Amino acid sequence: MAIAVAGPEIERLIQLLARLPGLGPRSARRAALHLIKKREALMAPLSAALQVAIEKIQVCKVCGNIDTQDPCTVCTDPRRDPSIIVVVADVADLWALERASATNGQYHVLGATLSPLDGVGPQDLTIDALVARAHDPKVTEIILALNATVDGQTTAHYITDLLQEAGVKVTRLAHGVPVGGELDYLDEGTLSAAMRQRTLF
Ligand code: ZN
Repeated sequence: MAIAVAGPEIERLIQLLARLPGLGPRSARRAALHLIKKREALMAPLSAALQVAIEKIQVCKVCGNIDTQDPCTVCTDPRRDPSIIVVVADVADLWALERASATNGQYHVLGATLSPLDGVGPQDLTIDALVARAHDPKVTEIILALNATVDGQTTAHYITDLLQEAGVKVTRLAHGVPVGGELDYLDEGTLSAAMRQRTLF
């Protein structure tokens, strides 16, 4: 067992920080020390921000985004295009697309991707709600912005089948050469997908 170098309160802080993604025990210790040193400038505001987040954060009942209001900021923005729904697996993907200003459409967060091996089935995803939204006459296109993994593509095929009768156009993100990418460094799967999905110049 590791020897404790600080009192139980500080050890608890370190243990909690170590549960954050990207932080191991070592960097959690460093983060805790940094917070303690910057008690007034950082630790107190962080604690206050966490408290507000606990009280106010909720899941948007329309799209599944996380926000301090329901419906969320994206769903209530009148400049968004109501004819497009961008389907993502996770809120992190929604936020990534928003950071890139990649779309002006609405969103739908599935909550996960289908993964039979991990026991994640259609009932664990918000697929029924998506199908219902797709039947809204305002909606004309569903963009599947899912991971280019086996699970992501399995989910995309499953949803595409279900949306057949909704009378909407179903599209998915292109697979191919990343912006700034050099062909020599790409894996074979990406290269062959890019060749198959070539577009007119
Ligand atoms: Zn929303």
